[in-house]
Amino acid sequence: MIPGVRGTRDIVPGDVERWQHVEAVARDVCGRYGYRELRTPIIEREELFAKGTGESTDIVQKEMYAFTDKGGERVTLRPEATPGMVRAYVEHALEQALAVPKLFTIGPMFRYERPQKGRYRQFHQLNVEVFGVADAALDAEVIEMACTFVETLAIQGTELVINSVGCPACRPAFSEALLNGLGEDLPKLCGDCQRRAATNPLRIFDCKVAADQSVIDQLPHSVDFLCDTCREHFEAVQRYLRAYEQPFRVSHRLVRGLDYYTRTTFEILASQLGAQNALLGGGRYDGLVKQLGGADRPGIGFAAGLERLVLALPGTDDEVAPDVFVAALGAAAREAAFVLARALRAGGLQTLVDYEPRSAKAQLKRANRARARYAVIVGDDELARGEVTVKTMATGEQHSVARDGVVAALSSS
Ligand code: AMP
Repeated sequence: MIPGVRGTRDIVPGDVERWQHVEAVARDVCGRYGYRELRTPIIEREELFAKGTGESTDIVQKEMYAFTDKGGERVTLRPEATPGMVRAYVEHALEQALAVPKLFTIGPMFRYERPQKGRYRQFHQLNVEVFGVADAALDAEVIEMACTFVETLAIQGTELVINSVGCPACRPAFSEALLNGLGEDLPKLCGDCQRRAATNPLRIFDCKVAADQSVIDQLPHSVDFLCDTCREHFEAVQRYLRAYEQPFRVSHRLVRGLDYYTRTTFEILASQLGAQNALLGGGRYDGLVKQLGGADRPGIGFAAGLERLVLALPGTDDEVAPDVFVAALGAAAREAAFVLARALRAGGLQTLVDYEPRSAKAQLKRANRARARYAVIVGDDELARGEVTVKTMATGEQHSVARDGVVAALSSS
């Protein structure tokens, strides 16, 4: 046996129904908020992420599945969806095509990270992006929609955290304040923090190294360095969230791992998930569209990890089971059984047939194992009389039904 690639997972029957449920709720919620689906390729040019996600991010520096293709072009499996969504929005002039470009996509992402519970090398996201709207009302609506999505899935023990990381006008002063705050302590921090101090000091707040935390806890907070417009924007977002009666906590450590965020950042955490507890995260990225060659348009969005949503989903009892199991007894009956199965399926009933000639007992055992609601037994003698036997599996009760009436009888039951 050749095992699957480390960090990838098969979604097997039994689990796949939970995935389908999460995806169906995602589509339903996105639809209600006016989002349209956009599907972009899994493979993109490597430079899209260097420019979009950011050269200084862990994603671009360490985690991309990038390679030179047979034509000599540098390409990569997408580590996240936003740059590809922005590319497609610009490339197809979706601004003209859609009244409000509200877009979502669902699909796999690839990051070469160390796999653990809730963290994989191929994982799946629901991605939501809105272009062209700068108003704080949209930030709050996007956040509220994310909360509604998680609530609709009945995931318990969640918490919404928000922050503002400012804009290019006020961020430099904050970065400088961080470096000043670190001062003599910088050389004591981990290697990653040293690198972050040089490339993007905000990201020091991402550090999980226990020994670094006492220093990081003393650092200044981004909200204390916001320019007037950023501060007003952040206050407005909070006002709208209160109007929605949506509880939240402001966390100054929520800077998010990507370079393009401006102003609002947010995450929904789920206590039950352990170390990888972020169900979803996002924020505003007002400079990204321009940076990727489009007009100067603001943007905002979030990405939700489907693996983590499925993990956090409460248990369900709905088992997937066929309506009918058709058992044939005798050679002539076999052909009739397959024809009957087709008629049952055409009548909307989920139907299985036994493919091997076996005893009645063996076939009924199989019907039981498949958890079928009914077994329809087709025997040579009954067939001659134009009848079949219907057995209700839960009660064991059985009776004869006219062959021509069985689809109607079971469809209405
Ligand atoms: P990010 O794109 O890093 O902001 O992540 C957004 C969401 O995607 C996270 O909150 C997770 O739910 C999910 N996610 C990110 N990386 C992984 C991963 N390696 N494995 C599984 N889910 C992930």
